[in-house]
Amino acid sequence: MRPSIEVLFQGFPGKTDRGFLGWSSCVLLRGEHTGLFDTAGFAERQELVHRLKRRGLSPEHIDYVVLSHFHFDHAANVLLFPKATIYLHELELQHVRESGRIDYAVPWEMFETVSRTGRLQTLKGASGTLPEGLAWMHTPGHTPGSISLVVDSPRGRFALAADAIKNRDEARTGNVWMSVDPAASRESIARILDTADWVVPGHDGILRVNHVPNGREVHATERTRGIIDLILTEVDSQIHVTNSDGQQIKGMSPVYFEIKGDPS
Ligand SMILES: [Zn+2]
Repeated sequence: MRPSIEVLFQGFPGKTDRGFLGWSSCVLLRGEHTGLFDTAGFAERQELVHRLKRRGLSPEHIDYVVLSHFHFDHAANVLLFPKATIYLHELELQHVRESGRIDYAVPWEMFETVSRTGRLQTLKGASGTLPEGLAWMHTPGHTPGSISLVVDSPRGRFALAADAIKNRDEARTGNVWMSVDPAASRESIARILDTADWVVPGHDGILRVNHVPNGREVHATERTRGIIDLILTEVDSQIHVTNSDGQQIKGMSPVYFEIKGDPS
């Protein structure tokens, strides 16, 4: 049985002056088994449990978690799921062990605990199929062991790309930000776009890939939104909040941000 795909959290391509926002995509896969592709970040833990609950699921119901890579904004909640088999690529394990302390997005201090669960399964090679019937492909660049899932649906073929393709710009230009190997990133992006009709990027809404005679066109299919709710009854006049058009927003919360683009 082919699993159904539901994007539980839409990624958001935000960066702040105090660091990367880290709002990543998290996808629920439901079929014979129930799984997650990535787990979002620590800040979303409560909301993740809440969104699962609204779908009649508790953390115990998650049979497997596929981690695209071991960065905090994708992996931080993996230990929430007490019964889940955890899939990670062998080159990502190596990256965590050898470079986890210099790649500051790696929560290396939780890795030992993940290893000790006895539920960690290592994926090896360029591609394969999980026991749950899902096809995966090694799509390195952002990190050495990044992987993507390929899921066929009645709407066409979906690639759950995570940070192999973080957003629409990377899909269109092949130019990536934050990659340990930009040449490998370009090659991974090309391979994903060759195979997919739809892409769930790591930090943007779903993208449509149109295969045309001289290549392909990538379209954003939904508005990429974020909401920042300032937890203040009155915003201090010293706090300057601007929207995506650069206009200053005064006083009111929540503040909605939309990424300018071409949902089409
Ligand atoms: Zn990410």
